Amino acid sequence: MKIKSADFVISNSDVSKCPKEPLPEYAFIGRSNVGKSSLINMLMERKNLAKTSGRPGKTQLINHFKVNNNWFLVDLPGYGYARVSKKDKKTFQKYITNYFEQREQLVCSFVLVDIRHEPQKIDMEFMEWMGENGIPFCIVFTKADKLKPKAIEKNVGAYLQKLLEDAWEETPRHFVTSSNNSFGREELLSFIDIINTD
Ligand code: GDP
Repeated sequence: MKIKSADFVISNSDVSKCPKEPLPEYAFIGRSNVGKSSLINMLMERKNLAKTSGRPGKTQLINHFKVNNNWFLVDLPGYGYARVSKKDKKTFQKYITNYFEQREQLVCSFVLVDIRHEPQKIDMEFMEWMGENGIPFCIVFTKADKLKPKAIEKNVGAYLQKLLEDAWEETPRHFVTSSNNSFGREELLSFIDIINTD
């Protein structure tokens, strides 16, 4: 997919205030520092798109970007901030839950995990919740440039195996990416393109 345009539309914490235009939507979510902003900027070939909407105070919001005038890319807040109060965590959980449960045009979500790390409880629980609620998602392994091909294969294999052990019948589709060298960019964008043209 060629990115002809990628424009910031709106940030908010209320799903009912998300854009009304009925375009297919793809959301990106993961632990803070997983490389989400970098991935979005890499996919869109823009230096500061994700950061621009992520000005201080905006990072905990649902950020909509319109891509090629025919789909929305949604940058969701990073979860697992160490320094967020319990109350903030609850508020955050509520509007993210509302987003996933109510956003009808959401086609697929991309759950980002750092390829170097073993499966983390917070990610596993999140994926389990997505599965239980029938919300389609793919796993995106980030920072692949940090590992050699053999280690990539090993870590991805171990990750998917852990999901199977956790009672998943089949593993979600996954992508291996690096924002440093754009690895995985074409594959991920083609996936979106194919769904959009179906
Ligand atoms: P976010 O908090 O999930 O939005 O994460 P950022 O995109 O801000 O990235 C967090 C840190 O990881 C930054 O220091 C990035 O430079 C680094 N990073 C992100 N993606 C990659 C990648 O693909 N490769 C490498 N080597 N570092 C990355």
